[in-house]
Amino acid sequence: MRTTEMLIPTLREVPAEAEVVSHKLLLRAGFIRKAASGVYTYLPLAQRVLRKIKNIVREEMDKQGGQELLMPIIQPAEMWLESGRWHVYGPELFRLKDRHNRDFCLGPTHEEVITLLMRGEVRSYKQMPQLLYQIQNKFRDERRPRFGLMRGREFIMKDLYSFDRDEAALDVSYKKMHEAYTNVFNRCGLQFRPVEADSGAIGGSSTHEFMVLAESGEAAILYCTKCDYAANVEKATSQPAAGLDPTTQQLALKEVSTPGQKSADQVAAFLSMATGQIIKTMIYQTDKEIVAALVRGDRDVNEIKLQNVLGALTLELAGDAAIQQATGAVAGYVGPVGLKNIRMVADPEVMAMANAVAGANKAEAHFANVNPNRDFKPELVEDIRLVRAGEPCPKCQAELQEAKGIEVGQIFKLGTKYSETLGATFLDENGKEKPIVMGCYGIGVSRTMAAAIEQNNDENGIIWPAAIAPFHAVVIPVSAKDENQVKLAGKLYQELNQTGVETVLDDRTERPGVKFKDADLIGYPLRIVVGGKAIEEGVVEVHQRRTGKTELIPVAQVVEQIN
Ligand code: ATP
Ligand code: MG
Ligand code: MG
Ligand code: MG
Repeated sequence: MRTTEMLIPTLREVPAEAEVVSHKLLLRAGFIRKAASGVYTYLPLAQRVLRKIKNIVREEMDKQGGQELLMPIIQPAEMWLESGRWHVYGPELFRLKDRHNRDFCLGPTHEEVITLLMRGEVRSYKQMPQLLYQIQNKFRDERRPRFGLMRGREFIMKDLYSFDRDEAALDVSYKKMHEAYTNVFNRCGLQFRPVEADSGAIGGSSTHEFMVLAESGEAAILYCTKCDYAANVEKATSQPAAGLDPTTQQLALKEVSTPGQKSADQVAAFLSMATGQIIKTMIYQTDKEIVAALVRGDRDVNEIKLQNVLGALTLELAGDAAIQQATGAVAGYVGPVGLKNIRMVADPEVMAMANAVAGANKAEAHFANVNPNRDFKPELVEDIRLVRAGEPCPKCQAELQEAKGIEVGQIFKLGTKYSETLGATFLDENGKEKPIVMGCYGIGVSRTMAAAIEQNNDENGIIWPAAIAPFHAVVIPVSAKDENQVKLAGKLYQELNQTGVETVLDDRTERPGVKFKDADLIGYPLRIVVGGKAIEEGVVEVHQRRTGKTELIPVAQVVEQIN
């Protein structure tokens, strides 16, 4: 393409609204424009990058036996009522009505649609495994859309769902996806780490997040300096057996169950009543520093985190105001879905407040008639302790370090969570009916583009990894008035394209300085400058964006050398 025929609206000024470098550069280099908060138009250069990332993703999914399909963005409320998530997903779900006043939502994820699809299509164990994926726009009405493409309200995701006959087969699918994700992010030229993440602690199911290491990352991870241990700080725990004072567990238990003191058990009872569910797991914490850890980062201290971790509902209560909110809000919020795991910060002061509020505000919140063990049954009370930077690695005892990460992907063993609720079953070889064992696997395609810039830039602009660069090279005639230069530049441009080097010709009548600045800003890996020397001495300047190295190459050899 010739730049005079392209839409590349570069900006000299740094846009005021942009905080992180990828947002600034995507705007300045003419890749994106905002349509609404967290909603963007991808201009042609961005679309080329996205296409490359999608192609890498497709190739790696297909290599593992993935099959691409396309599911609807608009999803009927019935599906979400059936899974129970219509009432728990909260304000992140974009809801809308059709002309007949029927409820719909814009898909933030597609477990409902695909599980219901497979309920209708899979009868026998012989039809599995199935790995199905799509690359599709997703919609989440994020509380704080920010950082440009990093946290949008409309964004592009690849989501794959695996369907297997049993846990062992799921393990195989999960490993395949782990490998595929590793390949995808390697091929995109990113520095990343797969880290253990918090799955909401149900039944040993596991999950990994793929984190691109960058200062602007919203997640904190701990990694070992010696071995491959890496975990989201929310997950990095050391069990009492792994070096923690064994009395800690006891103490934690005692503190929360002291008779006479309003205890976490009572709060659990309240939550249990409010949700109509038996609370299966309670994890009590008494360490104030852990409270701080739970609320660290940019997460608001007073935020109650009622989070649907891909279906595994986790309720994290952190900080006293959070518990106030929780006790008031949970009743109206949780609805009919099983509350499987409550992680509660059981500081006695906090508990006292919580009880005061719960007892005073809401009719259904009184504890008067609650009978622990009759109305609820905390099956598991355990102590976990978050590990911090500088402490020994739980695996090899070397020192742990903390880093910031951008979550570009996550893989997750769902088990039978959705298939049981939605009745997606199959017959095994003995003719026995069983729920399908599922996994889900997401990659933030548009976020990956932003993350690549966070890792690859300098004061002059973007430095694209070659595999995802919008073009490989730009050819710049120094003088647009010099016919010989223009002709030679045009010839090189054509030959490069013919030999598979995606090349742009900057044929604008701008000063060379302006063209060089734009070339650096946009981040073409190679800049080929055709100036006076090209005509007089037969050499062109080939400049590498990443290394800053410039070489003089004979005209006749340029195409060959670049290829
Ligand atoms: P986050 O923790 O950043 O909110 P998530 O855990 O909610 O992300 P998932 O449900 O795991 O996200 O979705 C899969 C992938 O989609 C994420 O790993 C991320 O790369 C991407 N993604 C999620 N939310 C957004 C968003 N608002 N904007 C852009 N990409 C997103
Ligand atoms: Mg999220
Ligand atoms: Mg996340
Ligand atoms: Mg995630």
